[in-house]
Amino acid sequence: MAKIRCICQHIITTSGAIPNPLEWKIISDPRFDDFEGLVEAEEVYRACSSMFRCPKCGRLWVYWDGFDGEPACYTPQSLDPAKEVEEA
Ligand SMILES: [Zn+2]
Repeated sequence: MAKIRCICQHIITTSGAIPNPLEWKIISDPRFDDFEGLVEAEEVYRACSSMFRCPKCGRLWVYWDGFDGEPACYTPQSLDPAKEVEEA
């Protein structure tokens, strides 16, 4: 199974259960606008990038270039410094 070890050390499984409860599909507005009328859900699915949300710390791991590329990591920024995401 493919996995990501999050910076918080939580292991995120990127394969296995379908649908994956940690996986989100994202698509740019212009790319989504390419679709018109009734479309095949599978076509929209394939046009999306996959993103995984760490259930422990909330970091987002985005596969902008598909699963062959490395995911980019995004950390939630709290407006309250006392609630910063903990580092491992
Ligand atoms: Zn995490």
